[in-house]
Amino acid sequence: MNRRRLLALSASAAALSLLPGMRLTARAASVFRRRRPTERNWPSRAEWAGLNRATGGNLLAIESPLEACNASQSACDAVFDDLKNPYWIGDQPGVTQTLGWVDAWQTQPSIYAVAATSAADVAAAVDFARDNDLRLVVKGGGHSYLGTSNAPDSLLIWTRRMNDVVLHDSFTPKGCAATEGEAAVTLGAGCMWLQAYDAVTTKGGKYVQGGGCTTVGVAGLVQSGGFGSFSKHYGSAASSLLEAEVVTADGHIRIANACTNSDLFWALKGGGGGTFGVVTKITLRLHPLPDFFGGVDFRVKAASDDAFKRLIGAFIEFYAAHLFGDRWGEQVSFRGDYTMNVGMVSYGYDTQAAKDVWKPFLAWIAQRSADYALAYDPVIVSGPAQRLWDAAFLQKNIPSSIDVNTAAGAPPGEFWWSGDADQVGQYLDAYESVWLPATLLQPAHRGALSDAFFRASQSWGFSLHFNKGLAGAPPEAVAAARNTATNPAVCDAFALAISAAGQGPSYPRIAGHEPDTVKGRRRRTAIHDCVNVLRSIGAAGSYVSESDYFEADWQRSYWGDNYNRLAQIKRRYDPTGLFFTHHGVGSERWSADGFTRLS
Ligand SMILES: Cc1cc2nc3c(=O)[nH]c(=O)nc-3n(C[C@H](O)[C@H](O)[C@H](O)COP(=O)(O)OP(=O)(O)OC[C@H]3O[C@@H](n4cnc5c(N)ncnc54)[C@H](O)[C@@H]3O)c2cc1C
Repeated sequence: MNRRRLLALSASAAALSLLPGMRLTARAASVFRRRRPTERNWPSRAEWAGLNRATGGNLLAIESPLEACNASQSACDAVFDDLKNPYWIGDQPGVTQTLGWVDAWQTQPSIYAVAATSAADVAAAVDFARDNDLRLVVKGGGHSYLGTSNAPDSLLIWTRRMNDVVLHDSFTPKGCAATEGEAAVTLGAGCMWLQAYDAVTTKGGKYVQGGGCTTVGVAGLVQSGGFGSFSKHYGSAASSLLEAEVVTADGHIRIANACTNSDLFWALKGGGGGTFGVVTKITLRLHPLPDFFGGVDFRVKAASDDAFKRLIGAFIEFYAAHLFGDRWGEQVSFRGDYTMNVGMVSYGYDTQAAKDVWKPFLAWIAQRSADYALAYDPVIVSGPAQRLWDAAFLQKNIPSSIDVNTAAGAPPGEFWWSGDADQVGQYLDAYESVWLPATLLQPAHRGALSDAFFRASQSWGFSLHFNKGLAGAPPEAVAAARNTATNPAVCDAFALAISAAGQGPSYPRIAGHEPDTVKGRRRRTAIHDCVNVLRSIGAAGSYVSESDYFEADWQRSYWGDNYNRLAQIKRRYDPTGLFFTHHGVGSERWSADGFTRLS
């Protein structure tokens, strides 16, 4: 036995002995392959029937809805219509919100799914997968861009039906001192953010930090770190996690919080989904609502490259002087056709106060009418914060902002933001993100920043997501984010820059719906060039859930100096690597498909 192998074995033995209650069978760390359905050692029908009984009849055989395309053109077209509805996609165990990524992955169904309704169902599925050496995947809202919630020849744990929501006036994490009680919400792992916002904000008059997109799953987002429109004020979603219930690789149902399994708790706060166990419910801190949330929407086009450069420079000056802080989030984008799109949100301003903030910048544009044209009158409006996720209010007052779920049997109040519609069922060409350090906003660096923004935009358009960089947030929000596994670069960044492109809904080898891979590859090069310009001035790292499938040095990009600690926690709670995701913590030990252990 060589020294490296001996060290690996003793490290995993040490990890096993440290964990109370662990009943995981310690396998030798030899290379092994997970089983496929074509192999003789695949579980028998009787064994699958046993799992079905153990999960109260919740085992489903899975087929992709895209199979309809083998039946008839009209059935196929109907499915591609359904693939424009994120709620419909979310209800299908055999397909995911992103359908694939050129040269990277394409959605494929598992063989079976446990449509879990309890932590006990999840534990039974974990035990079955571990004892039978199966490839296991976990899916909540199904929004992974990197395709980490689907895999062929696997067993899926699908949490969609675990969607209870419980509000607490005073929640004390188990094992912590009772004086720490605070307002909180417990969400089943299958909840989407809209369900959380409906209970907490529309009905409860409080705020919970989740994601922007209404159909994203709560457990996947929190384990990503997670940012919503108002994260610049409230911090990342992971920062508000008070407690999680999680089934670890040994099949134990554990509580993780600051006082119990605190290392696992920290890892769940941004260490990546599908990696440390199956989260069955999460409890998040609630925050006060301001009176108003608002939005700003306009598009301005410059007449020449010189005018566009000056526009970018003027915006950077304006942002640094008037917007940098905790009250302005969401996006500004710059495109190669010399357009700048503003789609930002405000925290705590009424309409007049928000208009006053933007006055100097809009005046600057108006004074230069030969150089700049507004595509439409700027919209600057605020409304009652409690109505932000109230579909009836939005339909009445700003109907163009939402698409309502009109599918037969859909419960009232389900909607998605119109701005997210392009992403439903998309097939990605490329997706990259980098954090922009706030030091770039200092007067001495603004020229270089402005020049880089212009040059980047001439390769491919990109957006600045101000709410996904926490520089300018209240000190307590920044401190809480530093106590998560997310790359600490997020705390020093004024924005996350994202450049991406996709097509769809589309899927390979389905006539009339195929993605154009040549176009996709061309766009990937352009997007890489765009983001490299930003890297050249000091942008660094990447947000794990909104990043490149081909991310170089992904461990450092996603987690910075936190990676080693995450890897240790992974070894402690999942020593044999039952949980595998592409570019997840510990995945370097596995083949790309997660079937063969390499070391
Ligand atoms: C249209 C769209 C909009 C988005 N908007 C935002 C946004 O506003 N802010 C933001 O921060 N991110 C956003 N994202 C990224 C999103 O937050 C992440 O992809 C997130 O991980 C999705 O969670 P999910 O449950 O929906 O997805 P899934 O694909 O189901 O899960 C994502 C990952 O988490 C794992 N996972 C899911 N549930 C569990 C569980 N219960 N226990 C353990 N692991 C689990 C899965 O195995 C997978 O690896 C967006 C993505 C899309 C496609």
